[in-house]
Order: sequence, then structure tokens, then C-alpha cells
Amino acid sequence: MGVDLAQLLKMVDDARDEMINLTQGLVRLETVNFGTPESGNELIAAEFLRDKLAEDGIDSEIYKSRENRGNVVASLSHGDGPSLLLMSHTDVVPVEDAGQWTHPPFGGDLAEGRIWGRGSSDMKSTVAAHAMALLILKRAGVELNGRLTFASCADEEAGGAYGFGWMAENHPDVLRADYAVNEGGGGPVRTENGIIYPISTGEKGRLEAHFKIVGRGFHASQPWRADNAIYKAEEVVRRIRTYAPEESADSELFKHLDTLAGISHPVTTENLEQTLKEVEAVNPSLSSMLRAASRMTIVASMINAGVKSNSVAENCTIVCDIRSMPWQDKAYVQRQVEGIIEGLDGVTVEVIETAISNNSPYDSPFRGYVEQATKDATGIDDLRFVPGLTVGFTDSRFVRPLGNVTYGFIPSHPNDDPAKSGAHNINESTGVDSLVAATRFTVALAWHILAKKS
Ligand SMILES: [Zn+2]
Repeated sequence: MGVDLAQLLKMVDDARDEMINLTQGLVRLETVNFGTPESGNELIAAEFLRDKLAEDGIDSEIYKSRENRGNVVASLSHGDGPSLLLMSHTDVVPVEDAGQWTHPPFGGDLAEGRIWGRGSSDMKSTVAAHAMALLILKRAGVELNGRLTFASCADEEAGGAYGFGWMAENHPDVLRADYAVNEGGGGPVRTENGIIYPISTGEKGRLEAHFKIVGRGFHASQPWRADNAIYKAEEVVRRIRTYAPEESADSELFKHLDTLAGISHPVTTENLEQTLKEVEAVNPSLSSMLRAASRMTIVASMINAGVKSNSVAENCTIVCDIRSMPWQDKAYVQRQVEGIIEGLDGVTVEVIETAISNNSPYDSPFRGYVEQATKDATGIDDLRFVPGLTVGFTDSRFVRPLGNVTYGFIPSHPNDDPAKSGAHNINESTGVDSLVAATRFTVALAWHILAKKS
């Protein structure tokens, strides 16, 4: 007996209640990551998933990066065809004030066609969708030629040192695959040109610059005898604020402005500013996103000076958040910030890299598979796709260096408003239709890449 894709997708639809239960079960596990090594407790989610997969005879391996921090991996594999990695994380951000939530944050309530709770949208519904895809392919006895790997890891919300970062360092072969999908894109945008799905192909880097300004303190009653570090900071702040970054229209995104904003002329560094103005007139948030995709940003986000109100400040520190383009490394950023303080006495700057910029080619066979699987998942043929640059960062940055062509892409249902998800906010929820769409997508993607078609 051989099944076809339509039968597989029907199996997904029929498993709607099972998907809801699985998501609810995950939301009820309090895998809260406070950013400390001992928080997270993702091991309970890893064991929960291992047990769920075991019910259908799928074996998992739990890799513990630390006591109570588990990363669960399961594979379906046969033959030496291509490989696909399904990436997700099981940790969630903390709940600040549970009293503000309409539904209890770890209750997993089902209401208004949505599952409510911390992590429902970011990203336990995807964990459930990926796990269900494995279960359905296994139940249907789909013959694979290649390897489908499910990896649901810890610690994404605090940087991944106990999750994908740790796995990439200690078990890179487990993660290495031709293709990978992860969070970061897939929220549909409705435009007058139809429904557009952004596929995130890259991420900006994230760095911090710590400017240290040293003056000379003195009693505040005779300020002229001091060299006030706060006053010296004025010029540093001015230079940070007016820093003119190198502009670039090389991002793939700029080749798709006709689809996104009805702009058909080619975009170059010369007409970039003008183009951003044109886009702003029709879609201000798109224009802002394009601006972020065309340059490094630097912004002063913290300042600290002085120790006592009656002493003139001897020291001042300004911390800046920096988001670099995929081709700008730490050395490039260092040169930029040193340029900012050029000629200033008593000012030094140190750069700390917290996430490397990274990207995968949009021009890849993977793109065709992703597009077809999204059409299969939604049942809509007239969809458009555009590459996107994620201005934040995800675990994708750990697997792109392994050679995995990695897309941030989990398609929501076109009728589901992404603004309702409340990720990292109160009243987080996920639409059941999107949960089903994501599972249909994952099954279809595996089918197109890996299934032996008779
Ligand atoms: Zn996430």
C-alpha cells in the first residue's frame, strides 16, 4: 500500500484533536527560561516528547547539556537521499504578572479557536506540529529516501548555550542536514497583490559596544576643577547618534519590491533613500523593515555615570546595541566604533559579539520545496513568497555554519492574524488553524524532499 500526499494531509486534518492535546500538554509544562543556567527545566518537555513519539515506535535520544536541560532528537531515516532538519525550542520566556492574563499562562486553555498560554505561539505549537509530522509519516508507513530529523532544544530564549549552541558544538553530526526549517518567518502578509509569505533567509548580527569615558572627579562645589565625564560623554553621544552607516541594497528583499510594494525600478545605493520614502507612503512598517535590512544600526541603550550626587563624575559608560549586516564581522564593527571616537581623549570602546550574522541562499532547490509545501498546506495556489532578513536572531545561526540551508519558515494559516499571537507578551496564544497548517506544511515538505514516490 502506498499513500499519496492528499491522503497524508487528510490524516493531519483528522489528527486535529491530537495536535491540540499535544500543544496543550507542552504549554502546561513550565519550561521557563530566566536566563540562568539552572532555569529552563526543558528536560521535562524532552521526556514528554520522547514518550509521545515512542507510542508510535519512534526512538528519541535526549542530549543533556546540564542537569534538567534536555535536547530531544528523533529521526526517520532510510537510504542515502537528502536530509531535512526540523528545528524548534522548548523553553519559554517568563510571565511577569499572571494576573493580567485572561487565561492562566500555563493552563493551555482552548477558547475562540486558539490555544492560550506562555509558549503556545513561541514556539510549542511548532514543536507539536513537527512531532506530529513525524508521527503521521510513520503511521502512514511512508517510505523515505533520506533522513528527517526532529530536534527540539533548550535555551533559545537566553542565547542557546544549553540548546542548539551546545548541540552544534558537541554533536554537530546530529544537526547537520542539507536543509533545515526553524522559526523566524512564515507569517502571511495580505496585500493588494495577494497573500505574501516571507521566508527568512538570514539574520543580522547582534553586538554591544561599551564606550568608556574617563574624566577627573572633584567636589561638586568647585566643578571647574574637575573634568566631568558626563560632559565629555556629550560629544560621544552626538557622534553615535549621527553615525552614518554604509548603506546597501544587496539584500534579496530589495529584488522583490514589485511584489511587496508595487515598485518595479531596480534599487541601488543611489536611489535607496528615495525608494524607502516611496515605500513609506504606502507601507510605513515595511519601509522601516527595509531600512533595517539595508544598514548596520547602532543605538545608545544604556548610560551610567558618577557614584555620588555631590561629586563630579569621573567615569561614564555608554552601552550601544548594534545590529550588523550578514557581511559585517566583528572586526568591521570594531573599526566603525573606533571611527566614532577618533580624536577624543580619555575615551575607549570595546565590542562584544552576542550573535553572529548569518544567511542561507534564497536561490536554492529548498525554496521550491518550501513554496510547494506551503501551497499544499494552505490549499491556495496563488501565493507569493519573498526572502526576509530577520532583524532579531534565532537558533538558525548555529546550524547555518554546519552547511544547512536554513529557512526561518513556519507558515501560519492565511486567516490567522499574526498580531494575535502575543509572543513574549501577555495573553500569548496560537490559532488552531495555524497549528494544522504548520503540520500540513511539515508533512508536505518532508514528502517533497524525502518520500519515495511510486
Ligand atoms: Zn522562539
